[in-house]
Amino acid sequence: MRFIDEYRDPDAAAGYARALRRITTRPWTLMEVCGGQTHAIVKFGVDELLPPEVTLVHGPGCPVCVTPLEEGRAEVENQYARAVRRDGNQPAQQLVREVFRVVPRKWRGVGEIPQSGLALARPYQSFDAELRFGIAGHTADEPTECCSGLIMQGLMKPRECSAFGTRCTPEHPLGATMVSSEGACAAYHHYRRLDIPRQEAEVATHAD
Ligand code: SF4
Repeated sequence: MRFIDEYRDPDAAAGYARALRRITTRPWTLMEVCGGQTHAIVKFGVDELLPPEVTLVHGPGCPVCVTPLEEGRAEVENQYARAVRRDGNQPAQQLVREVFRVVPRKWRGVGEIPQSGLALARPYQSFDAELRFGIAGHTADEPTECCSGLIMQGLMKPRECSAFGTRCTPEHPLGATMVSSEGACAAYHHYRRLDIPRQEAEVATHAD
């Protein structure tokens, strides 16, 4: 199938992996921040094809794409440059400015971030469910053993959580990254829960 098969060519994938090994001369940490990317990476083992100097961390899940984190550099890069201009969609931005206002928001597992959310602007407040139903300030705190905040910040991998696959599963999720089918914990549970982590496999190989 066009635009599918081209991306499922094992020879091409092996060629790209070899090329990446050739040109990688220093450590890189890359955060993918879209849950769909996390699932594709874990499902197809893209992270295991990469050279050991390249570490992928799974970010919060949002359509911003790949963010290199190196030497204090943190940037958002537009990976859709053929379709998305720097100024963006002006009529849509004007509508968003008219209907919404910027507010602080609490993010699950992360906490409150100033100016990180949108609420309805005053002329539209009769549609605001938070005001209408008196649920402003309602929070859904994660249990203390859940480390989803660290996972969303790329500081931990799902399998490092002691509840992963035991007390926390997609059927009985404890945190946001297992609740969402696009979350990193859900991806690892779906595709990797029976795998031996790479470092353990390397230790076992060297011990043989
Ligand atoms: S496995 Fe469950 S408890 Fe552990 S970090 Fe992920 S969502 Fe939280």
